[in-house]
Amino acid sequence: MKLNIKAIRYLTSDDWRVLQAVEQGSKNHELVPTPLIAQIAGLRGGSGVHKNISSLAKVGLIAKVKNAKYDGYRLTYGGLDYLALNTHRKANSVYSLGNQIGVGKESDIYITAGPDGRQLVLKLHRLGRVSFRSVKSNRDYLRNRSTGSWMYLSRLAAQKEHAFMRVLYREGFPIPEPVAWSRHTVVMEFIDAFPLRMIESVPDPGKLYAELMDIIVRLAKRGLIHGDFNEFNILIKEKTMGDQITLIPILIDFPQTVSTNHANAQMYFDRDVACVRRYFERRLKYVSDEAGPHFADAIKGVDPAMRLDVEVEASGFSKKMAKELDRFVEAVTGNEDGVDVASDSEDAQGGEHREGDDQDDDAGIEHEGVEPESDEDEAQADTQGWDSKL
Ligand code: ADP
Ligand code: MG
Repeated sequence: MKLNIKAIRYLTSDDWRVLQAVEQGSKNHELVPTPLIAQIAGLRGGSGVHKNISSLAKVGLIAKVKNAKYDGYRLTYGGLDYLALNTHRKANSVYSLGNQIGVGKESDIYITAGPDGRQLVLKLHRLGRVSFRSVKSNRDYLRNRSTGSWMYLSRLAAQKEHAFMRVLYREGFPIPEPVAWSRHTVVMEFIDAFPLRMIESVPDPGKLYAELMDIIVRLAKRGLIHGDFNEFNILIKEKTMGDQITLIPILIDFPQTVSTNHANAQMYFDRDVACVRRYFERRLKYVSDEAGPHFADAIKGVDPAMRLDVEVEASGFSKKMAKELDRFVEAVTGNEDGVDVASDSEDAQGGEHREGDDQDDDAGIEHEGVEPESDEDEAQADTQGWDSKL
């Protein structure tokens, strides 16, 4: 699912209104009836609105559903991408779009620039696309979801990620600065560094190991567990001072963060710890003498007033939202029953990075009977460079 912004400059203000109307109508309609689109957009029916609808459908921002009982459209991921980008553009968070730098399991990552030229990262959450290839997830809960409900979960993931990043950054945790959030996207600081997975050798593995464990413990002391603390989600920045090179770990990827009060908190904490331990043993040939850190010690004496899990919940990412997202994460990782956990660490990946995983991106998430989204301009998507002003 490539992000192709070629058409963004050619949309008229009425096109945008109609696109927004489809988005709004999607909240309670799987397929938004054409008259309702016209009504929400506040444009009169007749040829005007139909012209807007057909130009949006032509560039794949909305799609018609085949064999439907009534005439209507649904928003596509492309349409959702445009709406989010338009919001970021208007808020001056993003000025231009650069190259795609990452294909995560559940996201696409692009370099972007702010109006001041600052390099930023745009993360588009794409929940649902891998679930159908993962062995554990062949479950009704995942299979029967519609595109609309995947979009809803992707929005929740972005909102959650931004909410946690905001408080973690403010509290001085080593993470990218969050800049903005809209719909299923988060804009954040670009970290010019490689994931730990790509680092061949570490001069002082014991020091890095201790720092990573310290981050896990510091998070727990503030009521949080990252939940996916692996070598892909730890970026390693190199800082040179004289002839000394210091490695600084920066943590990313927060949609699966859980509270230390979560029913499976201990398991998530232990899994994060085990992930680091295993990676250091296997790849960096470093074995720590000390067992732990242990969950019980980490959460001892936590000051309730300092709890970031509580703060995030109060700030709008509610328990109910967290539960909805949890259900998805647990279904995908096969942890619905608290057993047979697979994180996306090296083991689960078979040692391969996830590039290219997106070949059949849309395979599972479309309804039967939905017309394929237009991808005729796909081939040009790669030419997007720094001059891709939005
Ligand atoms: P996913 O949930 O899909 O794993 P991530 O947030 O882990 O998404 O991002 C996927 C990859 O994109 C990362 O492994 C990293 O290489 C790159 N990346 C993500 N965020 C940043 C950032 N702020 N700066 C630099 N690279 C990033
Ligand atoms: Mg990741």
